[in-house]
Amino acid sequence: MFSRQIEIGGKVSKGLKALEEKVFNENFCAVCGACLSLCPYLRSWKGRVVKLDDCTLEEGRCFAYCPRTEMELDEVHRGIFGKNYEEIEVGPVRKILMARAKDPIFHQKAQTGGVVSALIDFAFQEKMIEAGVLTPRNGDLLPQGQIVKNRKEILRCAGSSYVSGPTLEAFNRGPWKGEERIGIVGLPCQVLAMARMKISKLDKKTPIDRVVLVIGLFCTWALDYKPFMSLLHERVGGHSIKKLNITPPPERILEVTAGNKLYRIPVDDLRSFIRPSCRVCLDMTAELADISVGTVEGKEGWNTVIIRTAVGEDLLKRAQREGIVETRLLPEDHLRHLKQASLLKKRRALEAIDGKGGIEKAYVRLSTDLIQRILSESKGIKT
Ligand SMILES: Cc1cc2nc3c(=O)[nH]c(=O)nc-3n(C[C@H](O)[C@H](O)[C@H](O)COP(=O)(O)OP(=O)(O)OC[C@H]3O[C@@H](n4cnc5c(N)ncnc54)[C@H](O)[C@@H]3O)c2cc1C
Repeated sequence: MFSRQIEIGGKVSKGLKALEEKVFNENFCAVCGACLSLCPYLRSWKGRVVKLDDCTLEEGRCFAYCPRTEMELDEVHRGIFGKNYEEIEVGPVRKILMARAKDPIFHQKAQTGGVVSALIDFAFQEKMIEAGVLTPRNGDLLPQGQIVKNRKEILRCAGSSYVSGPTLEAFNRGPWKGEERIGIVGLPCQVLAMARMKISKLDKKTPIDRVVLVIGLFCTWALDYKPFMSLLHERVGGHSIKKLNITPPPERILEVTAGNKLYRIPVDDLRSFIRPSCRVCLDMTAELADISVGTVEGKEGWNTVIIRTAVGEDLLKRAQREGIVETRLLPEDHLRHLKQASLLKKRRALEAIDGKGGIEKAYVRLSTDLIQRILSESKGIKT
């Protein structure tokens, strides 16, 4: 079903018509923002991408950059890492460790250990970047992309709302002077969209060639904005929400700090709001980023950090040397659990894709060998 061809005037469409039928109508949009601010026909509206009018172009950037339209994963990995996709557990790895920011200002505002905010801030100090693209939430938790230039703006973006938002819309829109080096923080779907922008042969219309640093966030799923907000209003009332946090298994509770109270909502109550797009996503750890960052379950205030590229390795080394972050070895049982959680997400995605008409028809192409490896290595992992 996913790959049925959409034709315009007898030609296969790789434009908005195909995007609409294969992604929007199938409810597979990740709301990453990669298709926005590139043409007059698409807009974001309250956590959704909406089409304003038809477009008859046979081929478009909207389709080419989307993380849910057909792609060869090997081709994307060759474009970013110079080799095929092989590391099925958590993607390409140079080092995995745990880390936290040293300056308490990051801890006060950050989601976990503040490594993401501290590294972006440090990249500015080191003149590695002149602009960052991050994701603040406005008063009602709706994430939007924002171009940041200083620590105050970085700190305003710290924390997360577990809702998907169109970060890449801000990246596409600018304004850009045309020479800034850019650092960007995104979810796995957004990091994949950026990789697709990078390798696309279309006239890019985005500053992707000036992106020198990509920090990816771990993500098991993101929530659909509207139903999640309704639930929060029901449980928390009109109080303004200061922080959301999910406790580690086996408890799995969403802690909501609102007003002066802490509200606790079982994660099971949120499951029906998980975006369908997340159910077919194979990537928990933003495998195409320079550095990927998540939480260390059970060790409050620490991040799990995966270094994937020379750029990421160099930045982290300098940040350690300058006392910006401190690092420790990630304990063996945490590493094992991380790999299992990641493999489990892949297996579930393969099963969801299968239910949608089979892997041979899915948006993402993987070799039979890789699929077999994922299925066999994830066998026996408890859900
Ligand atoms: C939807 C979602 C799901 C997540 N799921 C997991 C998970 O399953 N396991 C796990 O270990 N970690 C998960 N995380 C990541 C985790 O919440 C932290 O962001 C991460 O550990 C970095 O912590 P930090 O203290 O360094 O971040 P901070 O220093 O607080 O920086 C957080 C950064 O995240 C960016 N951000 C916040 N919300 C969004 C958003 N909606 N879209 C894009 N960027 C955003 C901000 O720009 C900010 O720069 C998830 C995050 C999100 C947004």
